[in-house]
Amino acid sequence: MVLGGTVDVPDFPKPGIVFKDLMPLFADGAAFRRVVDGIVEHYGPGGFDVVAGVEARGFVVAAAVAYATGAGVVPVRKAGKLPRKALAATYELEYGEATLEVHEDAFIAGQRVLVVDDVLATGGTAGAALDLVERAGGTVIGFTVLMELGFLKGRERLSPRTVHALLTV
Ligand code: AMP
Repeated sequence: MVLGGTVDVPDFPKPGIVFKDLMPLFADGAAFRRVVDGIVEHYGPGGFDVVAGVEARGFVVAAAVAYATGAGVVPVRKAGKLPRKALAATYELEYGEATLEVHEDAFIAGQRVLVVDDVLATGGTAGAALDLVERAGGTVIGFTVLMELGFLKGRERLSPRTVHALLTV
């Protein structure tokens, strides 16, 4: 799929990183609908019960996919944002580390969960999010991103889990 409306921002958030800004795509109604429809078509409208979105851009896509299919939506949040008891997963960033959290009662045991984020880079974020969903009782049926940065080998890091990407660059 061609993802029109994405913009490369050099040296953001730090020198040497090319940030893939998908906000212009989200702002384009027809393009955003194609993205949501592409995800729904891939997994089938009855293929999952809940969509888990990774903070923050994953929330945008997760909510739309959930609404389009009648599924629920659960946020996977950065540390310290959730009001009730939460499970945490810490992972390595290029410099330092980060933590994601999900409410411990976010899922009914066995609920089928599709996990969504905007960009797959090294796979650290995705690995933590998928781990959290399963620890919270969900059954991960898939992980999907709008854009995969193939050269960073996130897909290999997540193996044997499968990754669906609308676009790989
Ligand atoms: P990673 O854990 O390395 O796979 O990084 C993926 C997470 O960081 C996702 O939540 C992305 O939103 C964000 N991210 C990492 N690299 C980029 C990039 N080059 N452009 C846009 N977002 C990125």
